[in-house]
Amino acid sequence: MGIYIVQTVIARNFKSLSHTLKNIDLKKNKIGLVPTMGCLHDGHLELIKKSKKLNYFTIVTIFINPLQFNNKADLKSYPSKEKTDIILLKKNKVNLIFIPNIAEVYPKNYSTYLYESSFSKILCGKHRKNHFSGVTTIVLKLFLLIKPNFVFFGEKDFQQLVIISKIVKDLNLDLKIIKVPTVRDEYGLALSSRNNLLSKKNLLLARKLYQSLKKVEEYKTKDVKHIINKLKTSLKKLGITNIEYLEIRESINLKTPRYIDEKKETRVFVAVNINKVRLIDNYVIKKISPRKV
Ligand code: AMP
Repeated sequence: MGIYIVQTVIARNFKSLSHTLKNIDLKKNKIGLVPTMGCLHDGHLELIKKSKKLNYFTIVTIFINPLQFNNKADLKSYPSKEKTDIILLKKNKVNLIFIPNIAEVYPKNYSTYLYESSFSKILCGKHRKNHFSGVTTIVLKLFLLIKPNFVFFGEKDFQQLVIISKIVKDLNLDLKIIKVPTVRDEYGLALSSRNNLLSKKNLLLARKLYQSLKKVEEYKTKDVKHIINKLKTSLKKLGITNIEYLEIRESINLKTPRYIDEKKETRVFVAVNINKVRLIDNYVIKKISPRKV
């Protein structure tokens, strides 16, 4: 019995990417793509494992995309650990790692951008100018370069997932988006590369964010304004005072209802800054039992 060894190829430019892609037998292999900005954790791994489990030729991209940062300091401080990322990806038998360089992705005088004009205006889009244009531009570039059959995105960035699904639909792209539930630490904190930037004390504070979100059903009200006010007060009491946004929206269309309709999946969306570290999360509201009289 022969041993099947998966050798991980690393491509650092378009030419070597295209060379590797040409050698894939597309009749026998579906391509699964996992776009990332690196500094990988178990959340990213969940996406990768899903692609591997489905037996796809799995491509992971690592690219800190400057276009999606509206703040230079934020871009500069974004964590990176390429060497350990590569070791982890090899261990997980990823077929191809694509680590392009900025000069090739955005050559001098680059001037073409993609812009989704509806869902991009709210939540993170409202607070981070051009963020989603940056995201959709790089994602479309990756789609065009790699031509994946399946692309994996995490629900942690739920708005991103909605916007990318929309561009796939609007532009009739021949690929399927696969969404993966948020991976959390044992205290419920959504794993994020940015968690690496938190001090020990602030990590404890960040963990309280999800703990608070989980309590919204206990308010026993379906009045959205009421829930938001209570949640804001509770976060502030805990010491999470720099709240960028805290909103309740339906998953399907990101519209804000006045009252929670339990027939529709509804989420709390939150972005907070904990000592300049920006964290986002979202929480699906479960059944709210009526107030006892
Ligand atoms: P990033 O490197 O932060 O751009 O994330 C790359 C991909 O991993 C995106 O699709 C994210 O939604 C996904 N991702 C990041 N964190 C998590 C998590 N904790 N659980 C599931 N997916 C995640």
